[in-house]
Amino acid sequence: MKDENIVWHNHPVDKAIRSDMKKQRPCLLWFTGLSGSGKSTIAGAVEHKLALRQQHTYLMDGDNVRHRLCKDLGFSETDRVENIRRVGEVANLMIDAGLIVLTAFISPFRENRDMVRAMLGEGEFIEVFIDTPIEECERRDPKGLYKKARAGQIKDFTGIDSPYESPESAEIHILNVGVAVEDAADQVIAYLESNGYLKPVKEACHATAG
Ligand code: ADP
Repeated sequence: MKDENIVWHNHPVDKAIRSDMKKQRPCLLWFTGLSGSGKSTIAGAVEHKLALRQQHTYLMDGDNVRHRLCKDLGFSETDRVENIRRVGEVANLMIDAGLIVLTAFISPFRENRDMVRAMLGEGEFIEVFIDTPIEECERRDPKGLYKKARAGQIKDFTGIDSPYESPESAEIHILNVGVAVEDAADQVIAYLESNGYLKPVKEACHATAG
């Protein structure tokens, strides 16, 4: 229950000051797509490229979050929503800290992704749709999950017996089949660059060389 005696305290150091120090515009890169589509791989490659440019980031991965922050949650509809809500709230705090946050979650439902978008400020939520045909995801199947789902050992598996609602107007749309991971990651970097989220390349190169 909300306590009316709890009052928000505004501290002297705010998001603008923290972001200025990091020379970046904080945001959340929300990677969504089927299991095996390449979300974690591309998010990791993007974070690596950002680190080389001395940008400050944090990557939250679906499986990792379920080991800790959301270990009490399962895969029921209510628990999936709560999982995404918590991730959104944590990302919001990290944005307040001035970071470029990357998340890799299947997040199959449009409504849940839009819920996170609504939690954040204008231009802070960047939806990255990793669009890989299910046949290709199933062929990759690095964790053997599709095989298990086909065998009926996993229920409500996205793409098999639970739907995936594709984004209708994702800020970044990556067709991740027959594409090098590096090129896919560069598509994200190009978006950040052209929309003013990063410090200029010259300055970034200077920082790396120094
Ligand atoms: P997700 O996080 O969406 O479940 P992963 O990032 O674990 O997917 O990727 C699934 C598999 O696909 C991994 O084995 C990864 O190496 C491979 N993969 C991802 N992107 C590509 C790509 N562009 N080309 C070839 N293989 C890829």
